[in-house]
Amino acid sequence: MIAPAPKPAPGDELVFLPLGGSNEIGMNFNLYGYGPPHARKWIVVDLGVTFGDATTPGVEVIMPDPRYIEDYADDILGIVLTHAHEDHIGAVGWLWPRLKAPVYATPFTAFLLREKLRDADILDEVPLTEIPLNGSLTLGPFEMQLITLTHSIPEPNGVSIKTPLGTILHTGDWKIDPDPLLGGVTDQDAIRRLGDEGVLAMVCDSTNVFVDGHAGSEAEVRVAMNALISTLKGKVAVACFASNVARMDTAIRAAEANGRRVCLVGRSMHRMAAAAKSVGFLEGIRPFVTDSEASRFADDEILYLCTGSQGEPRAALSRIAEGTHPHVKLGLGDHCIFSSRVIPGNDISIRNLQNKLSDRGVRLYTERDHPGIHVSGHPCRDELKEMYQWARPHIAVPTHGERRHLQEHLALARDLQVPEQVAPRNGDMVLLAPGKPGIIDEVPSGRLFLDGGVLTPENSDPLRERRHAASNGLLLVAVALDGRGRLAGDVKVRGVGLPGDEDYPLDEALDDLADDATKAIKSLDAGARDEDRPIEQAVGRVLKKSAQRIWDRRPVVETVVVRV
Ligand SMILES: [Zn+2]
Ligand SMILES: [Zn+2]
Repeated sequence: MIAPAPKPAPGDELVFLPLGGSNEIGMNFNLYGYGPPHARKWIVVDLGVTFGDATTPGVEVIMPDPRYIEDYADDILGIVLTHAHEDHIGAVGWLWPRLKAPVYATPFTAFLLREKLRDADILDEVPLTEIPLNGSLTLGPFEMQLITLTHSIPEPNGVSIKTPLGTILHTGDWKIDPDPLLGGVTDQDAIRRLGDEGVLAMVCDSTNVFVDGHAGSEAEVRVAMNALISTLKGKVAVACFASNVARMDTAIRAAEANGRRVCLVGRSMHRMAAAAKSVGFLEGIRPFVTDSEASRFADDEILYLCTGSQGEPRAALSRIAEGTHPHVKLGLGDHCIFSSRVIPGNDISIRNLQNKLSDRGVRLYTERDHPGIHVSGHPCRDELKEMYQWARPHIAVPTHGERRHLQEHLALARDLQVPEQVAPRNGDMVLLAPGKPGIIDEVPSGRLFLDGGVLTPENSDPLRERRHAASNGLLLVAVALDGRGRLAGDVKVRGVGLPGDEDYPLDEALDDLADDATKAIKSLDAGARDEDRPIEQAVGRVLKKSAQRIWDRRPVVETVVVRV
């Protein structure tokens, strides 16, 4: 028996507001609002991070800017986490103190979240409730039910969100894996039932919308990996994402089937193994060998399961490739299997890593030359089509994609005769009901950079200066003035990151710059020299001009005035 749905009150609206994860793959932060516009109640689905790149020197972690919803923090009824990938839970430790709503997650996700909250020192403060797989949860007007899906991590959940104005299916990350090895298969019956009852909107993963066919199954990877490892002599290293526990399980069982013991290398491998064991996975395997014990095994009797498939410089595999890992050495006659894909943006670091391993004589195996040793965790086009056939939504809302993915997903939904489609950007408030769906407002959104342990607005002054100094170099100027504002010694100029050559050595260039700075200071009238600022500005101006002439670039100029 389905209970009759509560009636909407006049003036009620149902809105979707992505503050992260729309127009990008990463830092998912989705909000659903219900009620009249002046008194909406909110739920949050996922609160993740994304990672920095060469354009954000010194910034590794980036997260959504919650400032819009922070003003309505009292109206957030809960934060529901679909699965434990960093782009879905990574920001909770940082942003929860600004939102302060109860958090809900299934056991595996909750296990990993607790570690994050412990690291952030807020474990005791955060009300975290574990919900079982397929569990349900009602928060104000939102009646939610988790739906088991398949992905590349244990316990991936979709969420159906029933409201008096209609039902949303928020898919989270998913694929249709007929044999995911660990956990249940995609619960298509639940989705079909939802479709029968009527789905107003489906907010759906767009990652693989350009890829035809199906993503493939973890069971196929198991066959391929086992076959490959059975042919190998020498040490074998397998690199994969630690969070893909099914993949980890595959590598472990392939090792054992071929007379090898397994050594986990890298902190997140150990962390994920513990999380997996906490929910009953990785049972019935032999104990792991520590990396110091592993060196006592014959080459044919060991398999290293490593972090660092994306070339992350501090991860296990990079250290092995550099030859700086204290225990694990790979060389001629050894093998490294990349059971992972190249995440866009990591191409160069992966290539460098692979070149270093290759230079040591290690033979490499990637999905390009050995199809089957990796499958994606996101739905390809045929899977998306199936999902649309099951759920039959009235509105398609593509998320979890860059602009090109979202636009292609819109086109696919149109081809599938979905009556309405909206592809929002972060900050777009999407009206789902009542009436014609569409974007009705744009609210403040953006990114926060974790810079030196501090959350800063994106492109803050420190980062801009660092970026500028990284490509243009830095000039440091020391100016000593006496009590009457006269130079009390020679102006000194030091250069950082600026070149010189035989024709014009750096020392000479710096001396010339010191002369220019001296002239600039002397040309200021006495009144201007009473304060530091006019001096700094005059020196900055003239040295930038001189540097332009010498190096054809404009370094950062930092002037220190000392009164003696
Ligand atoms: Zn994701
Ligand atoms: Zn995911």
